[in-house]
Amino acid sequence: MNSCKTMYTITIWLEVHLKIKSANKLFCQCENSQDIDSLKPNTNICPVCTAQPGSLPVLSNEAFLQSLKLGKALHCTQQEYSQFDRKSYFYPDLPPGYQITQLFHPTNIDGKLTFYMNNYTEEKTVHIVDAHMETDTGKTINHSGKAMIDFNRAWTPLVEVVTGPDFHTADEVVEFLKELQRIARYNDISDADMEKGQMRVDVNISIAPEWATTLGTRVELKNINSYSAIKRAIEHEYHRQLTIIKEGGELARETRRWDDGEKTSFSMRSKEEALDYRYFPEPDMPPIHIDDSLRAIIEAMEIVIPHDIIKTMKEEYQFHKEYINALIADQTTLLFFQDMVKEGFAPKLVAKWLSGPIAAYCKEHFVTIDRLPFDEKELRDFLTLAKKGEMIENQLKIIMNEMLSTDKDIATIIQEKGFDKPAIDTDQLMTIIQKVIQDNAHVVAQYKGGKASSIGFFVWQVMRATQGKANPKDVQPLLKQALDNA
Ligand SMILES: [Zn+2]
Repeated sequence: MNSCKTMYTITIWLEVHLKIKSANKLFCQCENSQDIDSLKPNTNICPVCTAQPGSLPVLSNEAFLQSLKLGKALHCTQQEYSQFDRKSYFYPDLPPGYQITQLFHPTNIDGKLTFYMNNYTEEKTVHIVDAHMETDTGKTINHSGKAMIDFNRAWTPLVEVVTGPDFHTADEVVEFLKELQRIARYNDISDADMEKGQMRVDVNISIAPEWATTLGTRVELKNINSYSAIKRAIEHEYHRQLTIIKEGGELARETRRWDDGEKTSFSMRSKEEALDYRYFPEPDMPPIHIDDSLRAIIEAMEIVIPHDIIKTMKEEYQFHKEYINALIADQTTLLFFQDMVKEGFAPKLVAKWLSGPIAAYCKEHFVTIDRLPFDEKELRDFLTLAKKGEMIENQLKIIMNEMLSTDKDIATIIQEKGFDKPAIDTDQLMTIIQKVIQDNAHVVAQYKGGKASSIGFFVWQVMRATQGKANPKDVQPLLKQALDNA
């Protein structure tokens, strides 16, 4: 991208569809399954979501409240008046021939999302145009030359988050999406798993000369299913558009399908204009009025903002990137970390163990910390042991490795490894201390001259001489005593 960066600017904006968690579909009583692909086709349907004559939609209160929760997390304004609209739909997998969405008066408008870039130093804020409710479609499955239709997914609830044209790199897009995904998960609004289609991202890209005051032709990319694919698709589209512009060609305003296997995109259709969708207010749904009682409910909603949590880790705890990445990777780890800190454990101590061997185990076995070979109590016991400071680092590492690879409890491991006896006895330790003092007469002189911090040097020398077997807590008083007598 760099070669032409001085001449052309890439501008990106997103439409992100999040599959909302609720008991029922958006407008009927059918179950809103989060694992739709596990269901037998057309077993989760009813007269409403298959648009039988005479059936009428009824808004799911729960799904609606979930959309308000997301709107609040995105700092949106909830409009006093909002409504649903009909959008004509051209494909056979939505029985009524239209989707119900919110175009003219969406409930959540004008928000923002602030996120860190992946080094956790740079912050960026993106404008949220709106976060509107809409229905999902069914699925068309091509099989042996025939198109077969499964309506299980029809009318399940989505919230579409529309951003402003505020992105200029693929990395910004990915970090934004990670934060949005955390918001959805931490607040139990959506599982937002891209591979399961619970978070679907349409990427709009336009490039224009740097001096231009308007955006270039908009091209929309669909069917991108992972963060790495998003990066590849944006990079590819940038070069494709640039080549056409440089050859004097004209870009088509179109929707393109990304093929991650082929690493290229194909034109799906010329981009429809709003007119093609023949939008009009949904006559079967009454408008929504956010009155005082509903406002009070929104006000009372407790929202977790992951960005705030990361900020605390970074600024208050001074955590580095590895600690933060491990702690925010999933909600179970984060909640456990927060509980331990509340109980008085030092944040760094907890972060060190959760991000080290435990994170490595979780990654290797594709599990979260609630699926370790030991339970939460045992993990607390381990952290308590580490907090006491009676064991040296190496012993703690061995204990943790045993806990992760066997079903032995902490007491058994300590006994088997002989960690209940000192690894080095006081006589041996005194001999080593005396030798260190003799070998470093000039530092002894400094110490005696009032430089108290020299003690750290001696502790380190002794630890080195014992190959880490001594406990600094035992070394320190013996050293002081020996130094005073030296
Ligand atoms: Zn239904």
